[in-house]
Amino acid sequence: MASMTDISFRSWQIGDIKVTRIVESESVFDIPTMFPKASAEEVQKLDWLKPHFVTDDWQGKLSIHALVVETPELTIVVDTCIGNDRDRLAYETSNNLQTAFMQDFEAAGFDREKVDVVLCTHLHFDHVGWNTMKVGDAWVPTFPNARYLFNRAEFEYWRDTQDEATEDMFLNVQKNVFIDSVKPVIDAGLVDLVDENHRVSDEVWLEPTPGHSPGHVCIRLRSQGQDAFITGDMVHHPFQFANAEWSMASVDYDSDMATATRARVYGEVADQPVLVIGTHFAGVTAGRVRKDGASYRFDAEE
Ligand SMILES: [Zn+2]
Repeated sequence: MASMTDISFRSWQIGDIKVTRIVESESVFDIPTMFPKASAEEVQKLDWLKPHFVTDDWQGKLSIHALVVETPELTIVVDTCIGNDRDRLAYETSNNLQTAFMQDFEAAGFDREKVDVVLCTHLHFDHVGWNTMKVGDAWVPTFPNARYLFNRAEFEYWRDTQDEATEDMFLNVQKNVFIDSVKPVIDAGLVDLVDENHRVSDEVWLEPTPGHSPGHVCIRLRSQGQDAFITGDMVHHPFQFANAEWSMASVDYDSDMATATRARVYGEVADQPVLVIGTHFAGVTAGRVRKDGASYRFDAEE
C-alpha cells in the first residue's frame, strides 16, 4: 500500500457541484487472478489503460477512496473506504489499518461534523469503513450529524444473512463489517433506508445497478446541464469497459446480473457528455466512456 503522505486531493467541477477525492490507499493487483475471465493476452491489447490504470508491466492499479460531493446545499460523502482499527484478519492488507484518512479529509477542508449525508453504493467492507470510528472500545458514527442512506434491499440482505453460518471467507469478513461499520449507525438512529432510485436532491440521485451486490446503486450528479456518474463497484477497473463479462467473480453476488448491468450502463453513458468517476479507478480516476468497435474504452480525463 502506498503511503498516505503523497496523495493529492483531485477534484472535479460539475456545474455547481464539486467532487473531491480523498484517497485511503492505492495498490496493484494481478488482473487474471482477481478477474478470471480477463486473460493477460486480451487485457494487454488495451493500450489506453496506460499510464493511469495499469503499471508498465500490466499489473492493475486499484485505488480505495471516498468522494466528497458538495452541492450548493449539501456535503455528501460517497463511500467510506476500509477504515482504521478493523478486524479483517482474512484480508491481510485491510486488517487493522492505521491510515491518515481522516487527517487527509480535514486537510482537504472538510469537517466530519458538517457532513450532511453519507451514501454507500453498497455495504462491502471497502465502502463502509469510515461510517464509524473506534473511540475506546466503542464504534461510534464518524459523521454524527449526517443521515446515512443505504439502499433498503442491500441493507436487508446483509442484516438477514448475518446469522447464517458460512465457510466463505468474504462473507465472514462481511459479518464483522456489519457489526463494526453498519450496525452502530443503525443503533444511533442515523440511517434512512431508501429505494434504489432515491433522489437526495435536485442534483444527486441513486441509480440501481445490482449484481456485484444485491442492492448496489450508482450515484448520478447533474448541475447546470453537466452530468457525472459515480460507479461504485458496478465496474472496478477501466479494463472492464472492454468486456462487460470480466467480473470480479469471487465476491460478486450474481456475476451474470453484474455483467448485464454493466452492458446496460455502458450503452447509456458511451459517447454522452457524462463524466464517469470511478470508485476504484486509480490515477486520474475519471474519464469518458467511448464506443470502440463492438465494445467500449475509457478515455482518462487529465
Ligand atoms: Zn469495492
